[in-house]
Amino acid sequence: MNKNYINGKWQDALHGNTWNVVNPCRETVVATLPFGGADDAQAAISAAAAAFSGWKNTNAWQRSDLLRQVAHLMRTNAKTLAAVTVEESGKPLAEAIGEWTVAAQFFDWYAEEGKRAGGQTLLANRNNKRMSIIHQPIGVVGIITAWNFPVWNLARVWAAALAAGCTIVAKPSEYTPLTAMRLMELLEAADIPAGVANLVLGDAAAIGQAMLAHPAVRKMHFVGSTRVGKILLDGASQTNTKLSLELGGNAPCIILPDTDIAATATSAALAKSRNCGQVCVSPQRFIVHRSVYDAFCSGASEALQQFNIGDGADPVTQLGPLINARQREHVAAIVQESVAAGGTLLCGGKRPAHLDKGYFYEPTLVKDVRPDNPLFRREIFGPVMSVTPFDTQEEAIALANDTEYGLAAYLWTNNLKASVQISEALEFGIVGINEWAAHAVEAPFGGWKQSGLGYECGAEGLQEYLEKKLISVGGV
Ligand code: ADP
Repeated sequence: MNKNYINGKWQDALHGNTWNVVNPCRETVVATLPFGGADDAQAAISAAAAAFSGWKNTNAWQRSDLLRQVAHLMRTNAKTLAAVTVEESGKPLAEAIGEWTVAAQFFDWYAEEGKRAGGQTLLANRNNKRMSIIHQPIGVVGIITAWNFPVWNLARVWAAALAAGCTIVAKPSEYTPLTAMRLMELLEAADIPAGVANLVLGDAAAIGQAMLAHPAVRKMHFVGSTRVGKILLDGASQTNTKLSLELGGNAPCIILPDTDIAATATSAALAKSRNCGQVCVSPQRFIVHRSVYDAFCSGASEALQQFNIGDGADPVTQLGPLINARQREHVAAIVQESVAAGGTLLCGGKRPAHLDKGYFYEPTLVKDVRPDNPLFRREIFGPVMSVTPFDTQEEAIALANDTEYGLAAYLWTNNLKASVQISEALEFGIVGINEWAAHAVEAPFGGWKQSGLGYECGAEGLQEYLEKKLISVGGV
């Protein structure tokens, strides 16, 4: 159902406002949906607060059965569900099917991890004292997510919070709400009780403030820009709402001269084009040893020009559009500024001539990018490779760390000693060595510096939704 989902009922926005979802390939309206505000959010929070006492008292095995059922439904319906994701995000169908399939793993994994939430027994410094620590669900969780991974962004947080025994109020991105509605239908089909999971679309700022202001919302999880993350931090300074934030990135990729440079250049172009570069862990700043710099640039540029660009629904498409006109303007402006600042454009840098509709942008490579260049400093979130040469290992590390962001970094080398030294010196939450998909369902995903607060995924992702309680017995 294309509506808000509050207390187990699909409903219009309380004031009847609506929002059009647009297909980014054709620029046509796909659906008209409710556009709620603060009072819709409050209704959803009240439902989640009322459902909390029942849900937290189910045991982890009972919750596990329900979450596994959701995972099963996601997997068996992945193709149909992915078509909806393609319709609103424009991403290639194969990527969308992969996203639903990986998203299902989060429900499976947290279904089991929830059973290990456990606790701890401590040895006291007095013989007549006993201490233990128990973990309890934190309460209602408000979840605001971005459009780049319409199902993955939701699944990794919804699954962890629900497994921990929390109830949720989710506000997906206004650009990809249909995917969220389809996922919510699966939770409903799996018999997750009314009020445990709620969905509100609408005015992001009003809904965010309503979540911060409501005392039942003990935790908020946000995936999006550093700009909005800071708005939520400001608000939380008044309400003391606990926050986890998954914000931007500007991932460096150090390429040492001992790698197979032709293969690395091709795989780098492929990694950069995934989801049209709209990935917070996407490699952005390629920092390449001077002795292989020209070979890397020409190899990557050649590979970037091979991609089939087009409608994600077309099975031959390898590269879809950006999500909206604003995002394309952002990418085009950074590329333009970067070239004006001394970067050399090797390919791309414009809209594809054969596509007159859609928010498409050609895969682009700009080399000779210096650290003061906008392409080095700002997150691009588009299919653009920025390449910078280096001479020494120390220089490469300094260039890589010269950013306010600290989410992901990559290193390509077969030199064992250099791989240990460099990976330990990088100031990032995730370091991939000789691979582009370093993150995993079972491993913590979190940003250092301006890239975030707290963790998603892995055992750490579950802990975000659990409070610790010390129980101390005296006079034993
Ligand atoms: P992006 O630039 O990647 O779209 P945003 O940070 O703008 O990232 O959006 C991520 C999510 O944050 C979306 O769900 C959006 O609706 C929401 N959002 C935007 N502005 C605010 C705000 N002022 N308060 C709370 N959420 C917001």
